[in-house]
Amino acid sequence: MEIYIALGSNLGNRAENLENAVVALKGVGAVCAQSQVYETAPLYVIDQPAYLNAVVKLETSLTAEQALTALQAIENAAGRERGVRYGARSLDLDILYYGNVVIETATLQVPHPLLAERAFVLYPLCDVAPDFIHPVTGKTSTQMKAAMCGQDVRLYTKGTSI
Ligand code: ADP
Ligand code: MG
Repeated sequence: MEIYIALGSNLGNRAENLENAVVALKGVGAVCAQSQVYETAPLYVIDQPAYLNAVVKLETSLTAEQALTALQAIENAAGRERGVRYGARSLDLDILYYGNVVIETATLQVPHPLLAERAFVLYPLCDVAPDFIHPVTGKTSTQMKAAMCGQDVRLYTKGTSI
């Protein structure tokens, strides 16, 4: 199954946290594509450092639930502490899409429910899957990105790409 993962970090060495996460994601599946890295202003809780964000496409044989468990183990290994919701974190790994499957359980919602309002997800998603169609809304990543305005997202050029 093709699975799209959003990566975010705004604590510690952010670029290194993303690079390490991409290496660790090889344990979840084969990495098919990875986006450029974007630097983005925080949303929701704005009194925190800027994020680096990226999106990775994997081919996995895990179920979505198994993948979520694996992602949480990678977050924990990166020193993730669970504090304030939407607060600063060394690593956040979210499942954006699991093929065209729609999942609504207490622990897992796929497609990710906030994907369409987040420029920090849609910019990197357009790098790896511009024409992928959201299985619920029918919109492509490009269409959703075009609807964004006012969110501060810029290409991150310092350091190496992930
Ligand atoms: P957030 O990513 O919303 O800032 P967390 O990373 O702390 O917050 O995740 C909180 C919970 O979100 C997780 O325990 C997980 O069960 C749940 N969750 C629901 N849907 C998803 C998804 N698509 N990807 C990742 N986590 C999800
Ligand atoms: Mg998360």
